[in-house]
This record gives sequence, C-alpha cells and structure tokens, in this order.
Amino acid sequence: MDPSPPVNPDPRRSLPPVDQLGREVAGKDPQLPKWAVKEGSKRALAEFRAALAGKAITRPAGTETPDAAEATSDRLLESATHYATRLAARHPRPVVNATGVVLHTNLGRAPLAEGAAQAAAEAAARYSDLELDLATGQRGNRLASLSEKLCLLSGAPAAHACNNNAAALLLVLDTLARGREVIVSRGELVEIGGSFRVPDIMERSGVRLVEVGTTNRTHPEDYENAIGPDTALLLKVHRSNFKQIGFVSEVDLPTLSAIGRERGLRVVEDLGSGSLLDLTERGFPADSYAPARLGMGADLVCFSGDKLLGGPQAGILLGAESEIEAVRRNPLARALRLDKMSLAALEWTLEAMLDHRAESEIPVVGRLLESAQSLEARAHALAEGLGRRVGSRVQIAVARDRTEVGGGSLPGFELETWVVQLVAEGGAERLAATLRRGAVPVLARIRDGAVLLDLRTLDEGDCARVQEAVAAALV
Ligand SMILES: *Cc1c(COP(=O)(O)O)cnc(C)c1O
Repeated sequence: MDPSPPVNPDPRRSLPPVDQLGREVAGKDPQLPKWAVKEGSKRALAEFRAALAGKAITRPAGTETPDAAEATSDRLLESATHYATRLAARHPRPVVNATGVVLHTNLGRAPLAEGAAQAAAEAAARYSDLELDLATGQRGNRLASLSEKLCLLSGAPAAHACNNNAAALLLVLDTLARGREVIVSRGELVEIGGSFRVPDIMERSGVRLVEVGTTNRTHPEDYENAIGPDTALLLKVHRSNFKQIGFVSEVDLPTLSAIGRERGLRVVEDLGSGSLLDLTERGFPADSYAPARLGMGADLVCFSGDKLLGGPQAGILLGAESEIEAVRRNPLARALRLDKMSLAALEWTLEAMLDHRAESEIPVVGRLLESAQSLEARAHALAEGLGRRVGSRVQIAVARDRTEVGGGSLPGFELETWVVQLVAEGGAERLAATLRRGAVPVLARIRDGAVLLDLRTLDEGDCARVQEAVAAALV
C-alpha cells in the first residue's frame, strides 16, 4: 500500500487541448499557416507533457524546464509559437551577401544570371521540347544542344553534364575504373564542404584507391612505382580549398599526363572549379581555365557548374569522344542526370559566353572582373547613402581590402576590393548578428571591431537593401 496521501492531481491534465492552444498561437501571430500552428502546438504540448512526466527531453536552446504551475501559461504559448514559426519559415530565403566572397557555398554559390533564372523558370512552368526533336517528331536527346555549346566554348571533342561535380567524378570512376585501381596523391585526398570527401566518393564508385606520396610531397616515381596490371587510371584532384606551402612538391598535370601516355593509362582531373572563359589575361591563375587542362594532357576533366563557371548546380565533363560516350551509356548517368531547370539555366549561361555577354550578364563573371576603381566609387556612394541615413548612430569609413574567390575556387588567390566599415556602439558582433536576423538578412565580415560591407558582392539593388537593413538594425 502507498503510505503517502495523494497531493496534487496529475499536472499533465491541466494542459490545454491542441485546438485551444492553436487558437492562442494563431491569435498571437495571424500570419502563421494553419498546418504549422497545429504541428507547433502538438510539439509544444508533447514537450511539456514529457517534462511534467519527468522524462528527459530535448528543447530549443534558451527554454528551461517548465514546471507544473507554469504549464498552461505563457511559456506553453511561447514554445508553440516558436515551433510554428520555425516550421513555417521559408527556406531558402534570399539574403544579401556582403562578405565579398563571390562563391560562398553556404550562400548558394553562384547566383544565376537573370536570363538564366528566367530560362529555368520557363522550363519549370511550361512544357518544352526537352526530349523531342521538333523537326522529325522523333525522340530527341536532352543533352545534345548543351554538349555542342560546351564543345564550342572549350574546344573539347566531347562533353557531358550531370547533376553536380561529385556525380561527374562518380560517373567517370564507375565508368572507367570500377573494380580496378585508381592512383591518387595523398596530398590531393581533399574534403570539400561538410560532407564531400574524394576518397569516400572513390570507394563508393567501386574503385580501389591507391594512395601515393606523402601529405606534402608526391613525386613522379611515386605514381610510376604504384602502377600495376590492375591500374585503370591516374587521378588528379584540384586542391580547391587549401594551399600547401613550405616543403612541398606535387606532380603537375603535364607530367602526370606524360606518365599516363607512356604507360597506356588514362589521366582524369577533378578540377573542382573551372571557367570556360580564359581569365588569365585579367589576372586569374592558369588553373581557372578548364579547357586548358585537356591541352595539358588530361583525357577527361570535370568541374562544377555553379562555381567559377557562374551557372546552376551541375557537373561538367570535357574529354575524348570515346570516354564521354562510355560515360553517357553508363546506367548511372540516368540516375545522376541534370534536371530540366538546371539544363535550361546552363544552356542560357553558355550562350551568354558564346555571345560575349558573360561579363555584363553573368553575375559571377561580372563580380570577379569588376575593377578596383569601380568598387571604390561604389563604396563611397554606399558610405554616403548610409551617412545620410544613420550617420549619427554609427561611424562609417571606406577602405581598401582583399577578398577570396571562395567556394572551392582558387585558394590563396586574392582579389583587391573596397569595403564600407561600420563601427557601432554595441560592438561589431552585435551589429552583424542583428543584420543577419533582419527582414532581409545581410551577411557581412567582421574585423578589428568593425562590420565590413564588401562591394565585390554587392550590386546596386543590394546596396539599397543594405541601407534599409543597417537603418533598421540601428533604431
Ligand atoms: C567543389 C568540388 C567538388 C564537388 O563539386 P559539386 O559540384 O559540389 O558536387 C568536387 N571536387 C572538387 C575538387 C571540388 O572543388
């Protein structure tokens, strides 16, 4: 028998029903959609019920364990509203990139040209001749016209495009080396972004990875000694997001290609980021120009569509006809194919390059090539605009600076840029966080107690948005 007399009734019974809580949430924020209100209320009630039952639960940071007395109070409403708001939040939301990093992976890499975005929207919303030959009425090839443009721009004998560059690498390895050995330098087993690791992709494609050299040094003999009867190809992976300095040596592409030719092996390069425009005369490194890689002896080169190229997410493969044809016939090519919206956007982007409209119309190209003088002038204009609106509440200065290209492109290569510096009362961290959480989120750099707004990634529309955002942040 239980000796202690019953004290309180079960506090869980004092929780309101879902519908009642939902009405309160909707009353607090009428903008929230019904489905989110209902689900948010359910989650909040489940959480409070679990807490009242004394179970360990996970709760959003900042909310403490509710106790029985408060269970039906504001905090339940607050929690339900919090969940509903999070569920209903639009994603992805447009943001203003004031970091100066033109290819920012967390911010969606390359923004599309307006025309490319329109082409994608049209392909999405209407029927098209995606796989129909209008002249004959027969089935058409969805990639034929795209491949032709890729070949025209690059001079490559053949081309293929798929979902993204990771898929392109997977396709190539699966097509040309499945069940066999692929030799790669230990200095090139890179990780890109959070989850893409070259050795993992290689393993998944069913090839045996043969690592040669050491982290900092790989020599031609390392490849030569590793070649055996089971070797399918030699792989070179671009160190897209880091640079090695000091006691280092790598085997460059022409040398590796010579080894491949001598031993009858294909050489494949994962360039990561590549342009189809030769930007070397404008001061960009030689490895930014993808077509030149074939000239250096690679049989196949692959790179992303949404890095330096300035197009949509895609993986682009350039190379010899026989290898590309084998890739096309691989059943995996169907699983990894490019979707119609990206295809339309990519075709538009390539056409702009063929028409010599790249610098004026493709945002990545335009932003990378904008001159320091132009950035300086626009920085002064932005500073003046800000001064008129919030000059009394923040210190504003214009300064010369340097920025990286980003997005797994050209590590160690910096561009000259101009920034507007803001020094605010509450500190740079606080101002930057307020800007990030604003109605139109603005992402900025912080340095030496100042928030930096970098003109390299701000077009005129963005500059207007930045002024609004800073004014709103400083009220
Ligand atoms: C970025 C990158 C990839 C991945 O490309 P996605 O288009 O993101 O799939 C693969 N390899 C290298 C070297 C890269 O830089």
